[in-house]
Amino acid sequence: MKLHMQILIALGLGIKRNWHIFFGIIAGIIVGIFLHAHTFPLVQTLLTFIGQVFIRLIQMVVIPLVVSAIVIGITSVGDNKQLGKFGSKMVLYYGIITVAAVVIGTVLALIFKPGLGAAPYIAENTAVEVQASVATAMAQQQGNILNIFLGFIPSNPLNALANGNMVAIIVFVVTFAIALAKVGEVNRPIVSFFESVFAATMKITDWIMFLAAPGVFALTASAVSSFGIDIFMSISKYLGVLAVGFLLQLFVVYPLFLKFFSKVNIGILYSAIAEAMMVAFGTASSSATLPLTIACCEKRGISHKISSFVLPLGATLNMDGTALLQTVAVIFLAQAYGVPLTPFLIIQIALLAIIASSTCAGIPGAGLITIALILNGMGLSPEQLVAGFAFLFTIERITDMMRTLVNVTSDAVVVAAIADNENEINYDLLNNPKAYEDIA
Ligand code: ASP
Repeated sequence: MKLHMQILIALGLGIKRNWHIFFGIIAGIIVGIFLHAHTFPLVQTLLTFIGQVFIRLIQMVVIPLVVSAIVIGITSVGDNKQLGKFGSKMVLYYGIITVAAVVIGTVLALIFKPGLGAAPYIAENTAVEVQASVATAMAQQQGNILNIFLGFIPSNPLNALANGNMVAIIVFVVTFAIALAKVGEVNRPIVSFFESVFAATMKITDWIMFLAAPGVFALTASAVSSFGIDIFMSISKYLGVLAVGFLLQLFVVYPLFLKFFSKVNIGILYSAIAEAMMVAFGTASSSATLPLTIACCEKRGISHKISSFVLPLGATLNMDGTALLQTVAVIFLAQAYGVPLTPFLIIQIALLAIIASSTCAGIPGAGLITIALILNGMGLSPEQLVAGFAFLFTIERITDMMRTLVNVTSDAVVVAAIADNENEINYDLLNNPKAYEDIA
């Protein structure tokens, strides 16, 4: 092989996996645009297949990981007082960040009115296609808010585990782990068991991550190839409002939050979790990214005690990017359909978005389904929603990628703040990028 080729290959293999994933995203976009213009069904099928292999592999470890991490996290915190302190701080911090997201979404959507004049862009045939999905989602949301909360309590925990019903699983596992913490020494065999499960699932994650770059490339390429870039032009206002909202979260809200509540440097934190951010973007799944989020945080000095407790809960319950999107999307629909946005309605949308986002699972597309909960609360009829939903579905994947990146970032921001407050962060590791190399 020629020398320059060898050097190029060595360079390619030498660069950090972060960059491999980043190039995967860029190459995915380019290939996706090309495939949109020239149809190669075989290539598209292959890309979808590779993407699905990656997502499924990573989802495979999510439930054992979440269960073991929560059990270890809660039992290692141990005494009740500290647990209550961590828990309430976690709820407060996640709450602050989500409220900020909803306020930003509301203000931007009201100022820029992305919904006005959107009607001509709502394709009728797509509307018919999604009619069925909307009807199903609406049927599921028919119950009132109390029923939704009732669904969080698993009458059969094994059933919840088998169905991957994350909120129900978390409710059971948190209760179980608190009980284990309370019974004292007798919990050792079970806790050791979960420690082994956790270690093994993290090992599997490391293996799966070798597929991160091709997986993210394939997912991005097949997403872009299905809608092309024309769609971006016709709905630029909606996408623009969302992009500005997400950027404000990432570069204003989180830095201010960390400045106010901790001494963590946002730039250093972002470089520590860059890999998790890119995988979040590629997979559009907070749950699938969770193993990597934990790995990034722990390798860079955030204690296992805090990260194994806060991150699994955050990956399911803290969805501020989703809340922002839901607020913008619902106001967009209201504007497109000419529904008057009274202050009361706006507050209702904001509150329902906070609930709807936290009930949504950390999997691709979940946020768009739980929007039905908000619309239902607003008394909108399914007939009114069909065309609007068709529109939202068309660009669902790309907005999902963006909001998932925000969701995962905020989990890491909150865990870093709590770890800082509790002296559970090793700043030598956080400030030293080399510390993370051994996982790459
Ligand atoms: N895909 C998002 C996530 O996993 C959830 C959503 O659909 O908004 O964080």
